[in-house]
Amino acid sequence: LHPAPVDRLINELGKLPGIGRRTAQRLAFHILRSDDAEAFALADALREVKEAIGLCERCFNLAEGDLCRICSTPSRQQSVICVVEEPQDVIPIERTGEYRGLYHVLGGALSPIDGIDPEDLKIAELVARVGDETVQEIVIATNPTTTGEATAHHIAERVRAERPGLSLTRLASGLPVGADLEHADEVTLGRAFSGRRAVV
Ligand SMILES: [Zn+2]
Repeated sequence: LHPAPVDRLINELGKLPGIGRRTAQRLAFHILRSDDAEAFALADALREVKEAIGLCERCFNLAEGDLCRICSTPSRQQSVICVVEEPQDVIPIERTGEYRGLYHVLGGALSPIDGIDPEDLKIAELVARVGDETVQEIVIATNPTTTGEATAHHIAERVRAERPGLSLTRLASGLPVGADLEHADEVTLGRAFSGRRAVV
Protein backbone atom coordinates (compact mmCIF):
# COMPACT_ATOMS: atom_id res chain seq x y z
CA LEU A 1 0.00 0.00 0.00
CA HIS A 2 2.89 2.35 0.77
CA PRO A 3 5.46 3.37 -1.81
CA ALA A 4 8.24 0.74 -1.89
CA PRO A 5 10.88 2.83 -0.03
CA VAL A 6 8.43 3.44 2.82
CA ASP A 7 7.71 -0.28 3.07
CA ARG A 8 11.40 -0.98 3.08
CA LEU A 9 11.96 1.43 5.97
CA ILE A 10 9.06 -0.10 7.93
CA ASN A 11 10.51 -3.57 7.33
CA GLU A 12 13.99 -2.58 8.50
CA LEU A 13 12.72 -0.80 11.62
CA GLY A 14 10.51 -3.79 12.39
CA LYS A 15 13.58 -6.03 12.65
CA LEU A 16 14.80 -4.09 15.72
CA PRO A 17 14.21 -5.79 19.08
CA GLY A 18 11.00 -4.74 20.78
CA ILE A 19 9.67 -2.95 17.69
CA GLY A 20 6.47 -4.44 16.36
CA ARG A 21 4.89 -3.69 13.00
CA ARG A 22 2.75 -0.83 14.33
CA THR A 23 5.64 0.89 16.07
CA ALA A 24 7.81 0.45 12.98
CA GLN A 25 5.12 2.14 10.96
CA ARG A 26 4.79 5.00 13.44
CA LEU A 27 8.59 5.53 13.46
CA ALA A 28 8.74 5.43 9.65
CA PHE A 29 6.08 8.14 9.39
CA HIS A 30 7.85 10.18 12.03
CA ILE A 31 11.04 9.99 9.95
CA LEU A 32 9.12 10.93 6.80
CA ARG A 33 7.67 14.01 8.51
CA SER A 34 10.96 15.11 10.12
CA ASP A 35 13.25 17.48 8.27
CA ASP A 36 16.04 16.18 6.04
CA ALA A 37 18.88 17.10 8.42
CA GLU A 38 17.36 15.11 11.26
CA ALA A 39 16.67 12.03 9.14
CA PHE A 40 20.14 12.09 7.55
CA ALA A 41 21.76 12.47 10.99
CA LEU A 42 20.09 9.19 11.97
CA ALA A 43 21.26 7.49 8.77
CA ASP A 44 24.82 8.81 9.29
CA ALA A 45 24.89 7.65 12.92
CA LEU A 46 23.90 4.13 11.82
CA ARG A 47 26.57 4.04 9.14
CA GLU A 48 29.26 5.48 11.42
CA VAL A 49 28.65 3.07 14.27
CA LYS A 50 29.08 0.13 11.91
CA GLU A 51 32.11 1.57 10.13
CA ALA A 52 34.01 3.01 13.09
CA ILE A 53 33.26 0.61 15.93
CA GLY A 54 34.78 -2.83 16.10
CA LEU A 55 35.94 -5.16 18.86
CA CYS A 56 39.04 -4.56 20.96
CA GLU A 57 41.73 -6.97 19.79
CA ARG A 58 42.68 -7.78 23.37
CA CYS A 59 39.45 -7.92 25.38
CA PHE A 60 36.68 -7.84 22.71
CA ASN A 61 34.93 -4.86 24.26
CA LEU A 62 33.65 -2.26 21.79
CA ALA A 63 36.52 -0.22 20.40
CA GLU A 64 37.15 2.68 18.12
CA GLY A 65 40.49 1.51 16.74
CA ASP A 66 42.54 -1.56 17.75
CA LEU A 67 42.17 -1.31 21.51
CA CYS A 68 39.18 -0.26 23.61
CA ARG A 69 39.30 2.72 25.94
CA ILE A 70 39.95 0.55 29.00
CA CYS A 71 42.81 -1.47 27.47
CA SER A 72 44.43 1.75 26.29
CA THR A 73 44.35 3.34 29.77
CA PRO A 74 47.78 2.57 31.32
CA SER A 75 46.57 3.23 34.89
CA ARG A 76 44.19 0.28 34.80
CA GLN A 77 45.33 -2.63 36.98
CA GLN A 78 46.82 -5.14 34.55
CA SER A 79 46.73 -8.01 37.04
CA VAL A 80 42.92 -8.47 37.22
CA ILE A 81 40.62 -9.53 34.40
CA CYS A 82 36.85 -9.36 34.82
CA VAL A 83 35.02 -11.75 32.48
CA VAL A 84 31.60 -10.60 31.23
CA GLU A 85 29.18 -11.88 28.62
CA GLU A 86 28.51 -8.79 26.51
CA PRO A 87 30.05 -5.36 25.91
CA GLN A 88 27.03 -3.72 27.56
CA ASP A 89 27.91 -5.50 30.84
CA VAL A 90 31.07 -3.40 31.14
CA ILE A 91 29.12 -0.18 31.64
CA PRO A 92 27.30 -1.03 34.90
CA ILE A 93 30.54 -2.41 36.40
CA GLU A 94 32.40 0.77 35.46
CA ARG A 95 29.62 2.85 37.04
CA THR A 96 30.11 1.16 40.42
CA GLY A 97 33.60 2.68 40.64
CA GLU A 98 34.70 -0.49 42.49
CA TYR A 99 36.75 -1.95 39.68
CA ARG A 100 40.03 -0.70 38.17
CA GLY A 101 41.20 -3.79 36.29
CA LEU A 102 40.78 -5.06 32.74
CA TYR A 103 37.92 -6.95 31.08
CA HIS A 104 37.36 -9.90 28.81
CA VAL A 105 34.10 -9.94 26.83
CA LEU A 106 33.01 -13.45 25.85
CA GLY A 107 30.42 -12.44 23.28
CA GLY A 108 27.59 -14.40 24.93
CA ALA A 109 27.03 -17.36 27.23
CA LEU A 110 27.18 -21.11 26.70
CA SER A 111 23.85 -22.52 25.61
CA PRO A 112 23.99 -25.92 23.92
CA ILE A 113 20.24 -25.72 23.17
CA ASP A 114 20.85 -22.62 21.05
CA GLY A 115 23.99 -24.14 19.55
CA ILE A 116 26.35 -21.84 21.48
CA ASP A 117 29.42 -23.91 22.33
CA PRO A 118 32.78 -22.88 23.84
CA GLU A 119 34.25 -22.35 20.35
CA ASP A 120 31.60 -19.71 19.66
CA LEU A 121 32.77 -17.56 22.58
CA LYS A 122 36.12 -15.84 23.21
CA ILE A 123 37.15 -18.52 25.70
CA ALA A 124 40.35 -19.71 24.00
CA GLU A 125 41.39 -16.04 23.87
CA LEU A 126 40.79 -15.73 27.62
CA VAL A 127 42.86 -18.84 28.32
CA ALA A 128 45.66 -17.32 26.22
CA ARG A 129 45.56 -14.09 28.27
CA VAL A 130 45.63 -16.08 31.50
CA GLY A 131 48.92 -17.62 30.39
CA ASP A 132 50.52 -14.21 31.01
CA GLU A 133 52.16 -14.16 34.46
CA THR A 134 51.09 -10.55 35.17
CA VAL A 135 47.50 -11.80 35.55
CA GLN A 136 46.82 -12.50 39.25
CA GLU A 137 43.05 -12.75 39.44
CA ILE A 138 40.10 -13.62 37.20
CA VAL A 139 36.74 -12.25 38.31
CA ILE A 140 33.88 -14.13 36.69
CA ALA A 141 30.98 -11.74 36.22
CA THR A 142 28.73 -13.68 33.89
CA ASN A 143 25.00 -13.17 34.49
CA PRO A 144 23.33 -14.99 37.42
CA THR A 145 21.25 -17.05 34.95
CA THR A 146 21.40 -20.75 34.03
CA THR A 147 23.53 -20.09 30.96
CA GLY A 148 25.69 -17.57 32.87
CA GLU A 149 26.35 -20.09 35.64
CA ALA A 150 27.21 -22.83 33.15
CA THR A 151 29.61 -20.43 31.45
CA ALA A 152 31.21 -19.48 34.78
CA HIS A 153 31.74 -23.16 35.60
CA HIS A 154 33.29 -23.90 32.22
CA ILE A 155 35.61 -20.91 32.42
CA ALA A 156 36.74 -21.83 35.93
CA GLU A 157 37.75 -25.29 34.67
CA ARG A 158 39.59 -23.97 31.64
CA VAL A 159 41.42 -21.28 33.61
CA ARG A 160 42.42 -23.78 36.32
CA ALA A 161 43.80 -26.16 33.71
CA GLU A 162 45.94 -23.33 32.33
CA ARG A 163 47.07 -21.69 35.59
CA PRO A 164 46.32 -24.01 38.53
CA GLY A 165 47.18 -21.54 41.32
CA LEU A 166 45.48 -18.46 39.89
CA SER A 167 42.91 -16.65 42.04
CA LEU A 168 39.41 -17.15 40.60
CA THR A 169 36.53 -15.15 42.04
CA ARG A 170 32.82 -14.82 41.36
CA LEU A 171 30.63 -11.82 42.20
CA ALA A 172 29.00 -12.16 45.62
CA SER A 173 25.35 -13.14 45.76
CA GLY A 174 22.81 -10.38 46.17
CA LEU A 175 22.37 -9.97 42.45
CA PRO A 176 18.82 -10.97 41.58
CA VAL A 177 18.85 -14.56 40.27
CA GLY A 178 17.93 -14.79 36.61
CA ALA A 179 18.55 -11.09 36.02
CA ASP A 180 21.08 -9.61 33.66
CA LEU A 181 24.06 -7.68 34.93
CA GLU A 182 23.03 -4.95 32.55
CA HIS A 183 19.92 -4.26 34.64
CA ALA A 184 21.46 -4.52 38.11
CA ASP A 185 21.55 -1.26 40.05
CA GLU A 186 25.01 0.08 40.76
CA VAL A 187 24.82 -0.15 44.57
CA THR A 188 23.95 -3.86 44.43
CA LEU A 189 26.52 -4.52 41.76
CA GLY A 190 29.19 -2.53 43.62
CA ARG A 191 28.50 -4.59 46.74
CA ALA A 192 28.60 -7.83 44.73
CA PHE A 193 31.95 -6.69 43.41
CA SER A 194 33.65 -5.75 46.65
CA GLY A 195 32.32 -8.94 48.28
CA ARG A 196 33.49 -11.25 45.52
CA ARG A 197 34.42 -14.73 46.64
CA ALA A 198 36.76 -17.47 45.58
CA VAL A 199 35.29 -20.02 43.19
CA VAL A 200 35.34 -23.44 44.84
ZN1 LIG B 1 40.00 -3.90 25.42
